[in-house]
Amino acid sequence: MPEVVVVGAGPAGSITALLLARAGVPVRLLDRDIFPRDKLCGDTLNPGAWALLSALGLTPPIARVARPLHGMVVTGPGRARVEGGYGPGLYGMALRRRVLDALLVEAAAQAGVIVETGVRVEAPVLEGPRVTGVRVTHGGRAHVLPADLVVAADGRHSRLAFGLGLSRFAARPQRWAYGATYTGVAGLGDHGEMHIRTDGYVGIAPLPDGTANVCAVREWRRGGAPLRGDVLAAALTADAALAGRFVHAERRGSVSVLGPLAVDARAAGVPGLLLAGDAAGFVDPMTGDGMRFAIRGAELAAEGALRELGTGQPGWAWLTAARQREFGGKWRINRALRGLVASPAGVRCVAALAAGWSAPLSPLIALAGDVPVARRIAAEQGWRG
Ligand SMILES: Cc1cc2nc3c(=O)[nH]c(=O)nc-3n(C[C@H](O)[C@H](O)[C@H](O)COP(=O)(O)OP(=O)(O)OC[C@H]3O[C@@H](n4cnc5c(N)ncnc54)[C@H](O)[C@@H]3O)c2cc1C
Repeated sequence: MPEVVVVGAGPAGSITALLLARAGVPVRLLDRDIFPRDKLCGDTLNPGAWALLSALGLTPPIARVARPLHGMVVTGPGRARVEGGYGPGLYGMALRRRVLDALLVEAAAQAGVIVETGVRVEAPVLEGPRVTGVRVTHGGRAHVLPADLVVAADGRHSRLAFGLGLSRFAARPQRWAYGATYTGVAGLGDHGEMHIRTDGYVGIAPLPDGTANVCAVREWRRGGAPLRGDVLAAALTADAALAGRFVHAERRGSVSVLGPLAVDARAAGVPGLLLAGDAAGFVDPMTGDGMRFAIRGAELAAEGALRELGTGQPGWAWLTAARQREFGGKWRINRALRGLVASPAGVRCVAALAAGWSAPLSPLIALAGDVPVARRIAAEQGWRG
């Protein structure tokens, strides 16, 4: 029986591995970290991501430790504020990635996946144009792990995708994210929050234990002063609308920093290797839909892997086309929003419009939340929330 090696046990890797194991394929899931581990993220699953997890039967243990989110509040400079609900029976969830990812790894193990943590993948092994395994280090020792197929789900800065020339950091924008957990934030509700300003944005998510996930994203302009210092604290204290809510807030733990954020991928694999999740490209965290791409991308990668194992024909071209078909429309919207936020004049203009007339922006909140995906799954499976 052929063996698949999945690299990276984030949501994309765990779910790809789980689906292959459910299909009867022997799978080894590798991660450099030991779980549970922290991961910088906004800590929200939008309704589309939640519906996908539900359709896979993975939500019961997650729902017990997550906090439902019924919509988003988006604010801009000045008085601009739009509140959009996801609609009856539809919601997203907020929970720490530390908790979510460990639950998904556990689900993969229960499905029969061999999970090996503390294993760092260094490079692909190539025979001609075909990937035939990975080079790993484990406990200070290096060795080669052969595989009939490799799935690279090792995140934005994927060693495998970058190493094979499939992905690279986008030339623009050059954005960095700064995130931490805060206690004592005033005014948290049952909505996620996105506060867009002329110099970047701040996302806030209320977590199940009453704390808040707070992430600021800032652009580094070539030739400008490098971003340093406590950017997150500065983003909160300098913001007239947010500062008051953080008067009694305290940061718990250190600030995590990640960047540059945007990664472009030219294809979803090569013979013998397929990409899943952020390893296959990342637009921007503003729309809060990376997990939906990761989960659905995992389903597509598992299907591509089964095709390649079944036919002997490389599955990467099929996967590239399938991802474009499924995600192309949303990627275009996300890139347009990313471009808009990069323009202070654009942000001011939309904020001025929204202050007087917010109706056209509510459908955008539903779209960002992948509500159409959630509705379709609900209709197909008789699923409600
Ligand atoms: C600031 C920020 C906020 C975000 N907020 C949200 C949000 O609220 N909602 C949302 O849906 N999305 C959000 N996203 C996007 C989301 O975090 C990603 O899309 C998601 O984590 C992708 O999952 P993944 O499994 O592809 O990658 P990851 O979650 O990054 O997992 C990759 C795994 O690979 C492992 N790995 C990496 N390199 C190696 C190696 N060499 N060897 C072995 N293992 C390796 C890592 O340890 C990790 O466990 C946000 C992103 C950022 C940056």
